[in-house]
Amino acid sequence: MKTQAYAALSATAPMVPHTIERRELRDDDVAIEILYSGVCHSDLHMVRNDWGRAIYPVVPGHEIIGRVVAAGPSAHRFKAGDAVAVGTFVDSCERCDQCHKGEEHMCREVLTETYNGLDRVTGQPTLGGYSRHIVVKEAFVLRVPEGLDLSRAAPLLCAGITTYSPLRTWNVGPGSRVAVVGLGGLGHMAVKLAIGLGAHVTVISRSRAKQADALALGAEALLPTDDAQALAAAASSFDLIVDTVPTKHDINPYIPLLDIDGTLVVVGQLGDLQEPFTVPMIMGRRRVAGSMIGGIRETQEMLDFCARQQILPDCEMIRMDQINEAFDRLERADVRYRFVIDMSTLA
Ligand code: NAP
Ligand code: ZN
Repeated sequence: MKTQAYAALSATAPMVPHTIERRELRDDDVAIEILYSGVCHSDLHMVRNDWGRAIYPVVPGHEIIGRVVAAGPSAHRFKAGDAVAVGTFVDSCERCDQCHKGEEHMCREVLTETYNGLDRVTGQPTLGGYSRHIVVKEAFVLRVPEGLDLSRAAPLLCAGITTYSPLRTWNVGPGSRVAVVGLGGLGHMAVKLAIGLGAHVTVISRSRAKQADALALGAEALLPTDDAQALAAAASSFDLIVDTVPTKHDINPYIPLLDIDGTLVVVGQLGDLQEPFTVPMIMGRRRVAGSMIGGIRETQEMLDFCARQQILPDCEMIRMDQINEAFDRLERADVRYRFVIDMSTLA
């Protein structure tokens, strides 16, 4: 099936309309008409080839909300009309210990990413959600629970699960003290989800102008990254710090903010950080860790949790032809707090 999409044809080219081919339904596939696609900073990293592994044309998009339009003969979980979601991956080996545990994102073989992955049958590059239709193996499709606003749910599929998973891994619950570094797409979801789990939350940001937003999101304070005195006063005061900054940066100012046995989990920067200074780690048994998205089971748990608690991202809806401007604004951290593309605007 041919369908309309938006693609980057090279690392320096703007996003342009592009016709793509979606595969014929395999037995366990569903075909989905995409209604909304979230715009993740990873989309921008991939389009610009920041990670050195982009395969052009790149059709980004791994925060997908849509409706099933057709199902293969052995796809029984969904039927036409169902509201569904697709996140950052669309296949895995389904055989290894991690896949069996429902931790497909930790698959011992290569995970098939929603875009810029390689289809496990044909070897062809996968193409993401900046398109009108997608075909996905049903085991990798999520159910959108009743009561979740479809027009705002898309960012949960990456920004949501990427921040929910470390909160759960490090047992955040009532009374936990959590700080979030960087108030962007991931950061604002980390704030909402941690509060939903009962934590006390502080935002650490370069942008003093985001203070009112941080408080409106339910955070108790905003610590400006350039305020040495405020950072010193916050020493040993957090159990978990979730760092969402998308570039190489210095985590040394944040490690001493952890209490003894606390963990700073990096989810933002995939690559170099400035060298960490080990004294506060050794002296306080503080840890620096990383975390990547989440498995299908945990992603469904997060969607159900958000529906029950009515936790939704703050979205700025854009038309498909505004994507280049949206990428520029994302680079300047000028988004409150996630762009979502209304895919009906892609004629
Ligand atoms: P975003 O919306 O652009 O937010 C990033 C925030 O980081 C900004 O709002 C800004 O907040 C802060 N920041 C600090 N230094 C910055 C700089 N030099 N440039 C831009 N922002 C800076 O990005 P996002 O969509 O949340 O994604 C954040 C990172 O997470 C990206 O690198 C993305 O690739 C990565 N990611 C990782 C996973 C994973 O599985 N681990 C999943 C999804 C995304 P302040 O103004 O408050 O400082
Ligand atoms: Zn993402």
